[in-house]
Amino acid sequence: MENILVSACLTGENVKYDGYNNLNDKVVALKKRYNFILICPEVMGGLLIPRVPAEVKNNKVITKNNVDVTKEYHKGAEIALELAKKYNCKKAILKSKSPSCGKSRYDGTFTHKLIDEYGITAQLLINNGIKVYTEEEIDNL
Ligand code: SF4
Repeated sequence: MENILVSACLTGENVKYDGYNNLNDKVVALKKRYNFILICPEVMGGLLIPRVPAEVKNNKVITKNNVDVTKEYHKGAEIALELAKKYNCKKAILKSKSPSCGKSRYDGTFTHKLIDEYGITAQLLINNGIKVYTEEEIDNL
């Protein structure tokens, strides 16, 4: 079976900033067709569960209480890319609206304003030729 990177929170892993998950049954159903390589770039980068939410602004990732976590986000993205290479993943299913996994993300003002810019991990994977799908786009898989 083909290997595919998947945001762990979409499969029910409690890795979200608030200690919960984003379980998505349609994503989980794809286990019949793909071998999931689970990633949570924020945790892989060294951040804790739970953690203060963060947003990307001016190429930095800043938490709601004003701590710069850019380094952790980039580290998590690099590890995700290493895993993609190691397991020869050509595709990824990544949680939308996340500052790391999202193909769109919030604008950095913590006002839930979405913009068409990629999260840190989504951007790195796309730059390296990996096709990224959100959980809302998996009908195209
Ligand atoms: Fe889910 Fe990605 Fe956020 Fe981890 S970093 S909780 S996998 S959206």
